[in-house]
Amino acid sequence: AEASLRQSQKMEAIGQLTGGIAHDFNNMLTGIIGSLDMMRRRIAEQRHDGLERYIETALGSAERAAALTHRLLAFARRQPLEPSALDVAAVIHSVAQLVTHALPESVSLRLAIDEDLPNALADSNQLENAILNLAVNARDAMPDGGELVISAAFAKPGDVAALASGGDFLRITVADTGEGMPQEVVERVFEPFFTTKPQGQGTGLGLSMVYGFAQQSGGAVRVDSRLGEGTTIHLYLPATHTKPLPAEQSTKPVHKGTG
Ligand code: ADP
Repeated sequence: AEASLRQSQKMEAIGQLTGGIAHDFNNMLTGIIGSLDMMRRRIAEQRHDGLERYIETALGSAERAAALTHRLLAFARRQPLEPSALDVAAVIHSVAQLVTHALPESVSLRLAIDEDLPNALADSNQLENAILNLAVNARDAMPDGGELVISAAFAKPGDVAALASGGDFLRITVADTGEGMPQEVVERVFEPFFTTKPQGQGTGLGLSMVYGFAQQSGGAVRVDSRLGEGTTIHLYLPATHTKPLPAEQSTKPVHKGTG
């Protein structure tokens, strides 16, 4: 859970950094455009002396912009999805431990995990992160308190009719009794950078990450929200009947140590 808190804080930081990166990038473009514009004017006025200076400035800005995009691309490639057979109950318990620390007294947390669930086939860090994001959103939607319920069940066939594969699925649900969302918000929640939170509080990346994770895992996300009543988000993931690795052989250090 420690690792996923770090991951989540990292994502938060990335969201804040993105604005800064866009700003830097814009400065570099301004340097390129400004230099090209000066060159055009000088050429129009037949003043060809000292043009090299503008070329150097433009090239310097363009090279810094290229270096920046390379760093961003390298970062984006860094975390490949590594699906493995996951004990969803264990993942939820580990996230719940983390979430309790982040909940005010007025919000209660309840877990409802079915017995004998099959394992999910997904990347464990990303799944933890997805549930954490949903839980934090649920908390934020209940400033006056309420109940947060995280549940997991074997998905009923009708639930997953829209999913491509005919295999079995698990449904992880995060439900709150909070403010809910108007229809125009529901329609945009998966857009990257879409947020209704005050500046500095929301990155607008949480649900778009959950969406991307579900897609890449061969699953899906569904949002069900009623204004003034609350929001329920279902995350469907493919089930696998492969056994998860025993904890001591797991490559994931998350459940070790004090947690
Ligand atoms: P962020 O939380 O940083 O705003 P998200 O992508 O996680 O970014 O969420 C986007 C928007 O969706 C939120 O700003 C909020 O308006 C809405 N939203 C998400 N989850 C909930 C929820 N459980 N209840 C009410 N609104 C929500």
